[in-house]
Amino acid sequence: MTAPASSSEHGLLIIGSSQAGVQLAVSLRALGYEPPIRLLGDEDHRPYQRPALSKEFLQDKISKESLIFRTQEYWDEHRIEVVKGEWIVRLDQRPDGSGTAISATGATFDYDRLALAVGARARHLEKPGAMLDGVLYLRNADDALDLKARVARAQSIVVVGGGFIGIEAAASLHSMGKTVTLIDRGDRLVRRAVGPETSDFILRHHRGQGIDIRLGTDIDEIVGMDGRVRAVRAGGEEIAADIVLVGIGVIPNTGLAEQLGLEVSNGIVVDRYATASDGSTLAIGDCANLPNPIPGAPEGERVRFESVNHAIEQAKVAAYALTGRQAEYENIPWFWSNQADLKLQIAGVSTGYDRVVDRSPEGPNKFSLLYYRGDRLIAADCINAPLDFMMVRQTLTQGINLSAEAVADPATPLKTLIAASQNS
Ligand code: NAP
Repeated sequence: MTAPASSSEHGLLIIGSSQAGVQLAVSLRALGYEPPIRLLGDEDHRPYQRPALSKEFLQDKISKESLIFRTQEYWDEHRIEVVKGEWIVRLDQRPDGSGTAISATGATFDYDRLALAVGARARHLEKPGAMLDGVLYLRNADDALDLKARVARAQSIVVVGGGFIGIEAAASLHSMGKTVTLIDRGDRLVRRAVGPETSDFILRHHRGQGIDIRLGTDIDEIVGMDGRVRAVRAGGEEIAADIVLVGIGVIPNTGLAEQLGLEVSNGIVVDRYATASDGSTLAIGDCANLPNPIPGAPEGERVRFESVNHAIEQAKVAAYALTGRQAEYENIPWFWSNQADLKLQIAGVSTGYDRVVDRSPEGPNKFSLLYYRGDRLIAADCINAPLDFMMVRQTLTQGINLSAEAVADPATPLKTLIAASQNS
């Protein structure tokens, strides 16, 4: 089906050319959207994928070129204008949703519709010494290029933060032969995303590999010499450090939305159609705060997801909205995290669970935990157990429930249980 061509001459401006922005442009053309599309990013790189930055790219296993999303031929052929290196500082918008974006360079970009795919920025460490040379963050390609160059000359690395970035980077750096200490102020790893048993499993594994992981430990100070990092003082101890890599979470970029007077609360508030409070601007990806799509979630609860899967699915919803189809966001989120030889996969969201079933398969480094709220399966954490992950994802997406009793025997494949439930 082809969307009606618009009489507009400026078309859509997508601010942000990472996963969500790219997907929106691609989905729009696939749906037959005719108006001009301008995909604008602040970095000097062609739109690229970020997940490998803390893993294969850091370890020099893949090239920068392999991160690029689409060829220039694709953008040209699909009439998507990709603009690099422009940081939008101001939006002059009219009541009908059209307007002009003004960049820090003074360049202007007119639009008829606006989509904000502006993402989130790394939260900065606020401790004495945090401005020293060698205190680094890992959010984008330039960060990764800088980190890679410095890692080549470094031996001791302190990672601050035990979330996805911290643990993935720590595992990568350790596998590159570096001496790695990871410090988190909380009591367990990746705690925003997985349950305590999974955190324990991950902790035991990485400690066993030789990463020095210190939980419940706050940074006192980053110690420098001649303006450069030399050590980290934490928990009363001094730990030698050539580099301090900080991964302590992100802050959604809401400045432009605030300028427009849009509702903002832990991100840009959108409805199930990825539309912001003015009824016109779209907001997608890490920057968007949306109604919780998980079946059974408390009425009115809102969430902000930071994941590739979410960015892709919400961008598709926005593309439907822009082409006049109303498709609600119903995605059941899933996440993955490769940490050297551990492949963690998470289906659903375990928040609010009251029961867990351990069906870890036989074998080293394998783990599979299913979460229930009441008698309803709501999520799974799987490590090197891709079949369980895939099957739980399928049940959640298709609204199939598997009883906690039925799944308890790891020898019974979930596939068999799903087939039985479909035939009953
Ligand atoms: P995160 O998952 O929010 O984890 C940050 C961790 O750092 C939390 O445990 C936090 O504890 C801790 N922390 C905060 N301040 C600290 C301090 N002063 N000292 C020590 N620890 C401190 O964030 P992230 O790992 O930085 O990830 C950033 C973003 O990248 C997220 O959007 C993430 O989803 C994305 N990412 C995703 C993947 C993936 O999906 N595989 C991989 C890499 C990155 P508190 O809870 O107490 O604040």
